[in-house]
Amino acid sequence: MTIPTITLNDGHTIPQLGFGVFKVDPDETERIVSEALEAGYRHIDTAAIYGNEAGVGRAIAASGIARDELFITTKLWLSEQAGDKPLAALDASLEGLGLDRVDLYLSHWPAPANGHYVNAWEKMVALREAGKTTSIGVSNHLPEHLDAVIAATGVTPAVDQIELHPAYQQNDVTGYARDHGIRIEAWGPLGQGKYPLFEEAPVVAAAAAHDKTPAQVVLRWHLQQGFIVFPKSNRVERMRENLDVFDFELSPDEAAAITALERGGRVSSHPNEVN
Ligand code: NAD
Repeated sequence: MTIPTITLNDGHTIPQLGFGVFKVDPDETERIVSEALEAGYRHIDTAAIYGNEAGVGRAIAASGIARDELFITTKLWLSEQAGDKPLAALDASLEGLGLDRVDLYLSHWPAPANGHYVNAWEKMVALREAGKTTSIGVSNHLPEHLDAVIAATGVTPAVDQIELHPAYQQNDVTGYARDHGIRIEAWGPLGQGKYPLFEEAPVVAAAAAHDKTPAQVVLRWHLQQGFIVFPKSNRVERMRENLDVFDFELSPDEAAAITALERGGRVSSHPNEVN
């Protein structure tokens, strides 16, 4: 099985499918990430606030997989956006991960009321120049936030990682991203289990037609939209299931029926309210 890669606006590539570790217990992370690497994942999405970077790092070290075969993302928490704090924050993340650079560093939330997200982006540009991260991007940034960081630095984020699943597609953000060469990473690609995506008729019908599970159909929909995804599961059989999505294709009609499931069904907070 070969996982396709996407070329970012800085010329670097990212595996389109990875493994996310939000809410993975720090005490279980080494085992779970080891199982994910064993299953074939090579792209891991973590964050300082998840508290499990050290477990990710131990799994990487134990795997023996060459560094250049792995793609590791972590994120700057919003308490560390001001002044020079982002520089120390990435150093702390690298220490936890046991790495001398990450592949992608993201500014986790804009928290505009705090007034520091543009500074955070300026410091992330410096961190890329210092070689501590290969690529830089943002998360949960709306067009107004993207406008501000680009205007301040002239540097366009490589990705914007946003909540996105068939019931909540954020067309304003994805349209902006398309126009500016920003790739979308879809977090909560399966609706975090909070939205009954797997019972929706177009998902069930496509799953039956292709002899796949509803989760595989939803992931396939994301991939065909060009989104980068990293579904999370603590269970090995689901890790394997979520990787096994490259041997079928949704027809244009099947994909369109799933796209029509848009309901404005956000499962998380509005980016302007997270601070
Ligand atoms: P998800 O949509 O991947 O849902 C995960 C849940 O779906 C699992 O806990 C499990 O219950 C269920 N699931 C997984 N595979 C399944 C399968 N094959 N069949 C049935 N159910 C299945 O949600 P997520 O973990 O929140 O999102 C994925 C990743 O996105 C996270 O782990 C994290 O890396 C990232 N994320 C980022 C942000 C952000 O603010 N940037 C926020 C949330 C998540």
